Amino acid sequence: MAVAVYTESVLILSIQYVSTRGQAAPQSFSHILLGGLASDGGLYLPAHYPQVTDAELNTWRSLSYADLALQILKKFATDIPEADLRTLTHKTYTADIYRNARKGEDAAQITPLRKLEERNGTQVVLQALSNGPTLAFKDMAMQLLGNLFEYTLDKQHAELNIFGATSGDTGSAAEYAMRGKRGIRVFMLSPHRKMSAFQTAQMFSLQDPNIFNIAVEGVFDDCQDMVKAVSNDLDFKARQKIGTVNSINWARVVAQVVYYFRGYLAATTANSQKVSFTVPSGNFGNICAGHIARMMGLPIDRLVVATNENDVLDEFFRTGIYRVRKSAETFHTTSPSMDISKASNFERFVFDLLGRDSDRLRALFKKVDTHGGFDLSGKPGSDGNEFQQVARYGFESGKSTHADRIATIRDVEATCGLTIDTHTADGVKVAREHLTPGVPMIVLETALPAKFNETIREALGRDAERPAGFENIEALPQRFEVMPADVEKMKSYIAERTGL
Ligand SMILES: *Cc1c(COP(=O)(O)O)cnc(C)c1O
Repeated sequence: MAVAVYTESVLILSIQYVSTRGQAAPQSFSHILLGGLASDGGLYLPAHYPQVTDAELNTWRSLSYADLALQILKKFATDIPEADLRTLTHKTYTADIYRNARKGEDAAQITPLRKLEERNGTQVVLQALSNGPTLAFKDMAMQLLGNLFEYTLDKQHAELNIFGATSGDTGSAAEYAMRGKRGIRVFMLSPHRKMSAFQTAQMFSLQDPNIFNIAVEGVFDDCQDMVKAVSNDLDFKARQKIGTVNSINWARVVAQVVYYFRGYLAATTANSQKVSFTVPSGNFGNICAGHIARMMGLPIDRLVVATNENDVLDEFFRTGIYRVRKSAETFHTTSPSMDISKASNFERFVFDLLGRDSDRLRALFKKVDTHGGFDLSGKPGSDGNEFQQVARYGFESGKSTHADRIATIRDVEATCGLTIDTHTADGVKVAREHLTPGVPMIVLETALPAKFNETIREALGRDAERPAGFENIEALPQRFEVMPADVEKMKSYIAERTGL
């Protein structure tokens, strides 16, 4: 007994991260911060989930967002001194950065709740996550990542060159988080003339010397292929100190755990109450953080996955079959940040669902590569029956189409007086189908409507409101380079600029 207690306290002092595929050495938080996949191709998760006590939840009710983020982060980043984490979280979560709160809202709340409606005695509320510099929820995690990267690189006297591809939201959030940071350069590929005017202006108007926007003559897949090709050249990657900030980054996931605690604490008055969350999902990053919050002991009832026409995840949570799509089967929709063919963070949940059996997980994801998916439905010939366990984790799902988005944007405007963006509309549509009497439903708002104005015009016949400072963004001077989809040219471009 004494040994068990001792072991537990040691684990709390220092959390180690293990790979889902079980063939990479455990690492500390700081070690996995700058990397992507584990060396065995898996994703990192803590060896165990730190727990939150009833007493802690009570004290956390009165904390500012920055202090709440500190309390949560310190359970995961056990190898960074608390005083430093405090500086980093306070620098990240300030009203200055989250200044796009709506009229009547306090920007210092960072993620204020907005009441939407009451349906059959159930409150439906939006949690605003898009008040950051690029008007999408990705800012919330990416801003923290920028500060964590700068802090870690400073300590190691090291530098990092972030190389990625974007179709809009991710690249923009990354650039705004990394601009002007010591030791960091960002090389971001985007398909030339394929992003919306607003998104293009947001990225290309940045004049910071450490940001390099490269418009590739091709489509998004060409950009992604170039990133893969460069990442597969291990010599080049090491010499040029190439890193990524994609959605599998563990620190991004942890930063997102905070919204579930914050949303829960804001919607309840006692820890005996439960809430549910609906999350517009693509790569399963945001809702994976909800799963982690629930595993930590946060009283979450349901976690509802909302997809658009790209319904890989909805299919799994309805049937137990995970079937990745081919590029030709991936739809370009009006909620483009959810247009995925496979969900890169899904492996983290599957690891828990399999009871953390990394041998089985490896076999299943090998099957994804060879056969395009796996089947946990328990039916004859399937790969297992773990689908039966899904409900224990609170997961449910639903999907939404373009017509649903338009109808929901109109309806929410008419009945609640709020304009919501297309991704959030997918969330509201699905949330309304998953209400439990007496359990508040929190829908995570993932972007502001101004970013997807074309669809707002289609739904409402007028432009979406733009937050202050964005009025003339398309008229600002732009700084970018047009390049062919040529990997060797790309490599020389990077090398010339890093001098490495
Ligand atoms: C990235 C994004 C999503 C999807 O989030 P995941 O973490 O990939 O599931 C949804 N909505 C918007 C607006 C996004 O930018």
